[in-house]
Amino acid sequence: MKGSKTKDLPIYYFRKDRYRKTRGGKTKLIDIYCGSCNALLLIYQKDFPRGALKRCYVDRIFYPAKYSSIRSDKSIQDTDDMPKLKCRECKAVIGTPMRYTNHGENRLAYSMIKSKFTKKNSSHGIGKDR
Ligand SMILES: [Zn+2]
Repeated sequence: MKGSKTKDLPIYYFRKDRYRKTRGGKTKLIDIYCGSCNALLLIYQKDFPRGALKRCYVDRIFYPAKYSSIRSDKSIQDTDDMPKLKCRECKAVIGTPMRYTNHGENRLAYSMIKSKFTKKNSSHGIGKDR
């Protein structure tokens, strides 16, 4: 992103719901990169920002559309309907579909393969509360 002026970055409005509340209410926007080729994989809202990233819930993905659209895609009801989380550049598999059912939640997610990705505070978007 040339010049990379903060004000030119897209704004992503944080999702605020009981899932976030359960995790203490704090959240942040992170970029997740392929560990092999460093391509941007996801822009993601991480609730409980200090914890490790073990899974990515599909309802927290903002980018790219391939994955962010899963939450509203009626044809995707179960893990079998989900694509694997793959790097679009080198095709490495970064995460596998799962359903998270702890603590009374029922959310589709990706179980992240720890050695396959890196993460940092987002430089591709600005997270805001409405
Ligand atoms: Zn890659």
